[in-house]
Amino acid sequence: MLGNIVNGDDADQDLLYGEVRSHAQDQRPWDNYHCSYHLYPAFSRKAGGQENECNPHQRKNEKQEKFGKLTVIRHQTDHRKEVLYMQGWMGKLLRVDLTTGRLSVEMVDPEVARDFIGGRGWAIRYLYDEVDPGVDPLSEGNKVIFATGPLTATLTPSGARYMVVTKSPLTGAITCANAGGEFPTEMKRTGFDMFIFEGRSPRPIYLWVNDDQAELRPADHLWGMDVHTTVALIRKETDPKVRVACIGPAGEKLVKIAAIMNDAHRAAGRAGVGAVLGYKNLKAVAVRGHNKVSLADPEKLMDISKEVRKEVEQIAKAGKLVLRDYGTAYVATVTNSFGIIPTRNFQSGVFAGAEVISGEILNKKYLIRPKPCHGCPIACGRVTRVEHPLYGGEGEGPEYETLAAFGSSCGIDNLEAIIKANYLCNELGLDTISTGMTISCAMELYEKGYLPQADVGRPLEFGDAGAIVDLTRKTALREGFGDLLAEGSFRLASRYGHPEVSISSKKLEFPGYDPRGVKGMGILYATSNIGASHMRGDTIYVELGYVSVDVDPLTHKHKAHYCKHLQDIFAVIDSVGLCVFVAMRHFVQHNESLSMTRLADLMNSATGVGYDPKNLLLAGERIYNLERLFLLKAGFTKDDDTLPPRMLKEPMPEGPAQGQVVELDVMLPEYYQLRGWSSEGIPTEEKLKELGLD
Ligand code: SF4
Repeated sequence: MLGNIVNGDDADQDLLYGEVRSHAQDQRPWDNYHCSYHLYPAFSRKAGGQENECNPHQRKNEKQEKFGKLTVIRHQTDHRKEVLYMQGWMGKLLRVDLTTGRLSVEMVDPEVARDFIGGRGWAIRYLYDEVDPGVDPLSEGNKVIFATGPLTATLTPSGARYMVVTKSPLTGAITCANAGGEFPTEMKRTGFDMFIFEGRSPRPIYLWVNDDQAELRPADHLWGMDVHTTVALIRKETDPKVRVACIGPAGEKLVKIAAIMNDAHRAAGRAGVGAVLGYKNLKAVAVRGHNKVSLADPEKLMDISKEVRKEVEQIAKAGKLVLRDYGTAYVATVTNSFGIIPTRNFQSGVFAGAEVISGEILNKKYLIRPKPCHGCPIACGRVTRVEHPLYGGEGEGPEYETLAAFGSSCGIDNLEAIIKANYLCNELGLDTISTGMTISCAMELYEKGYLPQADVGRPLEFGDAGAIVDLTRKTALREGFGDLLAEGSFRLASRYGHPEVSISSKKLEFPGYDPRGVKGMGILYATSNIGASHMRGDTIYVELGYVSVDVDPLTHKHKAHYCKHLQDIFAVIDSVGLCVFVAMRHFVQHNESLSMTRLADLMNSATGVGYDPKNLLLAGERIYNLERLFLLKAGFTKDDDTLPPRMLKEPMPEGPAQGQVVELDVMLPEYYQLRGWSSEGIPTEEKLKELGLD
């Protein structure tokens, strides 16, 4: 037997993995609420109970209590233990000690639930408490956390996200990567909000969670397999309907830009989260769940959800639902028109081939159908097929970011080759942004004569379509020059004596917006806790008019304000379990203050907690500051809140943003002040007290 979760009473069995942690040995405040019966039916049958008797959804003998503003329901069972369950949240996490194979279940502290919301917020709270920020990311001391939010699996439009949080091997900072698809919904339906993986397995394994049964299974036969094969094999040996998140060969080979793929095509991509799983010998996580999320006010939640679906359909009827019509690929012509599309490793912001790699052409030539994440009315995903002797294939994508990284940034307008590189990233488990941008960095090193052809093993000019396909595969397998690309652009450029050629912040490659033409993205990339990510506070929403707030992209004025505000809003969205595309368009008000009135209503209908736009935003700020504390303890300083010299000193050479640089020296002190941090970028005692982090 390989490790079902079983009660300690079964410890005499021949367990290779798996045993329930004895809560009596390490008392925690929520231990009294532990319900071994509900979690472990095998044990309960032994104890003479009846299966499912204490299923909280049956609501027998329940009584409501207030915990601060949080309503909790205590369910009295007939075997002298209580189960606490929450509404919106499942209230439980599964802890997986990969070193010993021990699986244990813990209830989540209601106060943590309320104050850190879920998803990214819960994960940073646990990571901060349990991981030494100075730890080597590829060591047993690092942990990786999968976390859903209270709105995940609630039928809220786009409530289909989960977050992966860990210390990054690429940046040395905290990182959080998120993804949609079907996996997050299925994960939450197992009855767990969160999985915490710690230690390191002595052999390749995968975790299989089937409702309240969980086990670790050997994965030696899956090691070396690509993502699609891994999913197919796991489905064959577990359940055909299982949802899988896994790594490909890139993660196994500790490629520092490796992703975790779920549903075969969706990526929790950034900052090398896949390498952390690879180090831990954790090939995959497979889930199948049938639990429903209990809601405080299901009618209200359905009303809000219906309103949003109606809005989406009205926009579609007006012919303006570009995300459904073209996917994120529509952004290529938008960024080009603003002169901010990364071109030849950010040497320009104007790309002559932008139309050729646009959403229109993608639709016309390669689209099979749009594809939604679970329950999303927008369906921005693209199922595509390419017929081509070299670049043929079928899969999902590409997204705009992939088009920018492998396309304009590599000077390539061959859409078939870009799509092929995208398919390879999905199959082998790579982050498309960092892979494309690292190759474009190598191209500039080569162009400038810093990188000899002999080291690459081939010519490497901008515009070489064959190179992106060849080098993507080699990066994933650490083959030849791919072994250097696998370290990311900063280490690559530093090796050749020119770190300035890496267009990254905190060693994380820029996404597809040149901040010289959108100044808010400059302060965002510089200060982001995970490095240069657009997904942790995208000021593009206000700067390019995605929401009806009129802000000039070329001015630095007020950008520190919008950056801070959006970083806190995104921390909330990442924690509730929604997709930012939908949340920013439909759950955040499009006024100057971008207040989260509707999101607060939605959260209250799910959780019953008294959220309002103010305390929700404060929770976002709390989450952001706790991440910052982790960063500071990991050794980061004000000096790391910066941008590559090109952004600060080289004016944009052409296009609508011609002559612009990022005025970081003006925006950074303003940003620190708005955050309530010292001039060295350290949260003050007053600020920490205000946020309850003292
Ligand atoms: S908008 Fe797109 S990425 Fe977001 S939930 Fe919907 S389909 Fe998924």
